[in-house]
Order: sequence, then C-alpha cells, then structure tokens
Amino acid sequence: MIRPDAEQLAAHNRLVSILADLADSGRPAPCVKTPVAEWTSDDPGDQEYVARLCLACFARTACHEYNTNYPEPAGVWAGLTESDRAPRRGRPPKETTDDH
Ligand code: SF4
Repeated sequence: MIRPDAEQLAAHNRLVSILADLADSGRPAPCVKTPVAEWTSDDPGDQEYVARLCLACFARTACHEYNTNYPEPAGVWAGLTESDRAPRRGRPPKETTDDH
C-alpha cells in the first residue's frame, strides 16, 4: 500500500472539511447520505447509479480537483466512474490547427 504524502493528506483533509461544512449546513454530499459501499462497488451498474447522484453534489468541483491531483484507482469521484477515469488506449486524437 502506498502512503499518501503530506500534500495529498492535506488536500484530502480540505475535501473532508468541505463535506463536513456542507453536512452542517443541511446540504450533505450524496456520498455522505448514501452508504459509501455504493461509491466503491465494483459493479458498473452501481457505479453509473451513484455517478448520477454526484451531479447534485455541491462539492463536485472540489472532489474533481482532488481526484485530478491525486487520482484514486477505485470508486466514483465527482460523477466519474472507474471506467470514465481510466486512461484511454490507442493513439491520442489528432490536433487540429486553423492554418490550413
Ligand atoms: S461529487 Fe464527490 S463528494 Fe460529491 S457525492 Fe460525488 S463522490 Fe461524493
């Protein structure tokens, strides 16, 4: 198991703090209201279901920023399933230019 570094731990604590503030203000994140097992399920159907719940989350931007900086291999983050976040295979898309 890889231990998070101090920067990642601080970023994670900031996200947890945002989630706590939202819960205190009566706007809990869906992953706080719903059992966390659904967010970490391996079942693609479960992941698609909770990914849709993320769309209503007030912490979605912060969640996305955290997972962009510190990608987690498992679970649903900011409305993105494991499959959504998986690196794409094959050639990168061609870049287009306006000078043709
Ligand atoms: S966007 Fe992030 S914090 Fe909000 S419900 Fe989804 S996983 Fe939880």
